[in-house]
Amino acid sequence: MGLLDRAGARLTAHPEDAEILVVNTCSFIDTAKQESVDTILEMARHKTQGRAKKLIVAGCLVERYRDEIQKNIPEVDAVVGTGELESILEAAGLSSAPSSSSPFTILTGDASGVRNYVAPASELLQDENRPKGRSGKESLSGTHKSRAEGDARERSGRFLRDAWAGASSALPTYLYDETTPRLLSTPRASAYIKIAEGCDHPCTFCVIPNLRGKFRSRRFESVVAEAEQLVARGVREITLIGQDTTCYGEDLGLRDGLATLLDRLARIPNLKWLRFLYAYPNRITGKLLETIARHDNICKYLDLPLQHASPDVLKRMKRGASADIFLKTLHKVRAAVPGIALRTSFIVGFPGESLRDFEVLEEFIAEAQFDWLGVFSYSHEEGSAAYSLDAQTPHRTIESRRRRLMKLQQSISRRAKKNWVGRELTLLAEGPSAETPLLWEGRTEFHAPEIDGKVFINDFGPFENLQPGRFYRAIITESHDYDLVARVLSPEN
Ligand code: SF4
Repeated sequence: MGLLDRAGARLTAHPEDAEILVVNTCSFIDTAKQESVDTILEMARHKTQGRAKKLIVAGCLVERYRDEIQKNIPEVDAVVGTGELESILEAAGLSSAPSSSSPFTILTGDASGVRNYVAPASELLQDENRPKGRSGKESLSGTHKSRAEGDARERSGRFLRDAWAGASSALPTYLYDETTPRLLSTPRASAYIKIAEGCDHPCTFCVIPNLRGKFRSRRFESVVAEAEQLVARGVREITLIGQDTTCYGEDLGLRDGLATLLDRLARIPNLKWLRFLYAYPNRITGKLLETIARHDNICKYLDLPLQHASPDVLKRMKRGASADIFLKTLHKVRAAVPGIALRTSFIVGFPGESLRDFEVLEEFIAEAQFDWLGVFSYSHEEGSAAYSLDAQTPHRTIESRRRRLMKLQQSISRRAKKNWVGRELTLLAEGPSAETPLLWEGRTEFHAPEIDGKVFINDFGPFENLQPGRFYRAIITESHDYDLVARVLSPEN
């Protein structure tokens, strides 16, 4: 969006108004692919029946079905893979030179059907405000070298796309930096920063490394510069993301790179909340936990996708570990950061998952008592190592196991949320609730944007109105299965 905006495009969230349509896609599991294709077909109708002149498909679906997309959906004019962001301009027929008189109106949407909020131009990271090169200064950037683990995996064929007819064999290598123009599509107070791209892990169910390429970290100073620019423009909450954030800096020669980065970012004045998602379980170091504990503005929140708890299934997933090992890790985390909220996700129905394997997972969930938990049905993906495994779990079994775990978590969550009633905490007011205009919605540091339960605000306390993006002191007055209800007490900086 930033590149298009800088080239002079006017962005709109209304497809019927757009002359160029851009659909950003996902393709890591079947449901995501289906949603992506449905969105492309919906947008294609705007081209055949409406005013749109061009349809561009971007993102992971292109990495997987580059040739097929245009062959099967002739309305598509151009495709832009995950490593070719800058070619969006050529695809759109725009030059990269800044212009203020573009004849184009461009829609950016995503395949989840959520239309992006396009920030006003004042929120754009303007050229003149971008930091200049920092050469000559002491650098934490190190030199990019692919990780030995990644090189070994590459030799063993981890990243091959041979099974995907229509995909190019070249892996993406692109990384954006702090000079890449960017528009925020998140509410004003919150922003994501991608600190690394790609993944070197061998998880046998996962094709993300084949889609996104080998692990590579953004330069340390580039991440810091971007965070400083965002905070200077009013962002108060930053969420660091990447396929595996806990590997951050290994390819730059940094030790404990994520902890070092968090420690640096936490010192940015006015940054109220800082968090990271997608930690790999065996990379939770003492230093990382100490860093989370030491800074008030690092959210006491850890997202640790574990995928399963049965050692047999974890072994076949090529992730290793077991319920016992995970319980020790959780104990270590909770001891180092008291009160930390833990999120995880699991896959049910991996090939060969026996009833006993499933029960091990169920017992583990009952014991671990996660604050937030997602359960995904195994998706059989061509190109993944698990694709050739026998003993597929029947679809009905997968769905009934998924429901059973969600029911278990519902009762765990309901009991745990009761203990929140009466707690006073900091609340980020997000705006009127999508469910009813009578309530507002907000989040605490224990709720990551978009994925965890909600805090409904039914009492503004001393205020006539709240301001979205402002922090307030609040008290929890009610609890439900996953959601909470709060009363505002006072403003907070
Ligand atoms: S760590 Fe995550 S992204 Fe990487 S291969 Fe495993 S599941 Fe996929």
